[in-house]
Amino acid sequence: MSTVEIAAARLDRTRAELEAILEPPRPEARVGVLGAGSDDLDSGRAYLGRLAPGGYAVPTWPVEHGGMGLSGTEADAVRQALTHYQAPDMYPFLVGLDLIGPTILVHGDEEQKARWLPAIRNGQEIWCQMFSEPDAGSDLAGLKSRAERDGDGWRVSGSKVWTSRAHYSKRGLLLARHDPRLAKHKGIIAFGLDMTSPGVTVQPLVQMNHDAHFNEVFMDDVWIPDQDRIGEPGDGWRIALTCLTFERGALGGGLGVKEDQVARLAEMIAPGDPVARDRWAARLIEHRVIGMTELRARQARQAGLPPGPEDSGSKLRGTAMIKRLAALGLQVEGPAATVVAGEPDEWQSMFLMSPSLSIRGGTDEIQRNILGERVLGLPAEARVDKDKPFSDTC
Ligand SMILES: Cc1cc2nc3c(=O)[nH]c(=O)nc-3n(C[C@H](O)[C@H](O)[C@H](O)COP(=O)(O)OP(=O)(O)OC[C@H]3O[C@@H](n4cnc5c(N)ncnc54)[C@H](O)[C@@H]3O)c2cc1C
Repeated sequence: MSTVEIAAARLDRTRAELEAILEPPRPEARVGVLGAGSDDLDSGRAYLGRLAPGGYAVPTWPVEHGGMGLSGTEADAVRQALTHYQAPDMYPFLVGLDLIGPTILVHGDEEQKARWLPAIRNGQEIWCQMFSEPDAGSDLAGLKSRAERDGDGWRVSGSKVWTSRAHYSKRGLLLARHDPRLAKHKGIIAFGLDMTSPGVTVQPLVQMNHDAHFNEVFMDDVWIPDQDRIGEPGDGWRIALTCLTFERGALGGGLGVKEDQVARLAEMIAPGDPVARDRWAARLIEHRVIGMTELRARQARQAGLPPGPEDSGSKLRGTAMIKRLAALGLQVEGPAATVVAGEPDEWQSMFLMSPSLSIRGGTDEIQRNILGERVLGLPAEARVDKDKPFSDTC
C-alpha cells in the first residue's frame, strides 16, 4: 500500500472507532485559539478519559506507554479523524501531551515514564514548561535558577516567568544551573518539579484580554528528590532543545487556526462589502499556502530528509496571517467586537491574543536570526560568552 492509502485506511478505521466514544461536532460551539479564553479543565479531562483506552490522544507514543505506536503519516490521520468530532479546548493539556510527554519519552528513565506518562495521557496531571526567567528568554541558556546537590536530592532557588498554566500544573519541566563554572549551555540540569513542593509560589499574571494563563513562579530553597532529575546533570540544554523542537512541531504552520474558522468569517461579511471579501480571500489563500508548506515539510521529514527552509519561516508566516485575520474579524464585526460582556467575543479574543504570537515559542526577531544564519547562511551573531565559564560572564 502507498503512504496515501495507509493514511486513508487509518482515517476510516479510526473514525469508525471514534464514532462509539465521541459526539458529532456542534456547529454553534465556540472555538478557542491558542488557549485564549477561560479554561474548562473538567471537559478536557472527560474527553481525554474517553480517548485514553485507545491511545488516540497520543498516537505517536509507544503502545507500552498508552499510545498507538504510529508513524507520522498514520498519526496525522488519527488527528484528522479527531477533528470530525466535538472536542473541548485542549490547550491546557497540550504542553504535557505534545511537548513534555514526548520529551520524557526521549530523555526520561523507565521509572519516570511509568510514573509520569499515564497521568499526562489521561489529563489527570497538567505539566508546565519552566524555562524563561526574568533575564533569560531569547537567551535561554543564560538562566540563573540554581540547583545544588543536597543528600538524595537537590535544593533549587530562583524564579521563572511567563510559565503558562503553572497555577494548575501538577509538575513543571524545570531547567536550573547546577554548575556555574561550566560554559552556559553546559551547566544546566533538568527536573520534573512537583509544583506542590514547599517553597514553590505561583503568582498569575493578568493579560490584556483578561485571561490569567501565565505566571511568575518563585522557588525558595525547594527540595527535589534525585529521582525527579531528568537525564544527567549537564543534559539540561539538550533536553530543552528536544522540548522546543516538539513545541515547533506541535504549533504547526497555522498555529492552531483551522480552516473552518477562516470560513466562518466569510459568513459574517455582508454581500455588498467587496473590500472585506477581497481581504478575506487573501487570508484564506495565506492559510492554505501555509498548510501546503507544512505538508511539504512533513513529507520531507517522513522521507528522512534534514529539516529544510519550509519549517523555519512557518511560525513567522503563521503569526502574520493570524494577526491579519484577527484584525479583519474585528473590522467585520464592527463596534460589537469592542463590547466586553460575558464570554469574550471570539474575534476580539483572537485579536488581543495575537501580539503574543510574536513572542511565545521564540520571538519574531529570533526566528529571523535563525532564518538568516541557518537557511540563508548569513554571518552568525557574535556570541562572545558561549565558551566562557558562566560565572565569568555575569
Ligand atoms: C503567551 C506566552 C506564553 C509563554 N509561555 C511560556 C512557558 O510556558 N514557559 C516558558 O518558559 N516561557 C514562556 N513564555 C516566554 C517566552 O518564551 C519568552 O517571552 C520569549 O522567549 C522571549 O523572551 P523575553 O520575553 O525574555 O524577551 P527578550 O529575550 O528579553 O527579548 C526582548 C526583545 O529583544 C529581542 N531580542 C532578544 N535577543 C535578540 C537577538 N539576539 N537578536 C534580535 N533581537 C533580539 C526580542 O525579539 C524581543 O523583541 C511565554 C510567552 C508568552 C508571550
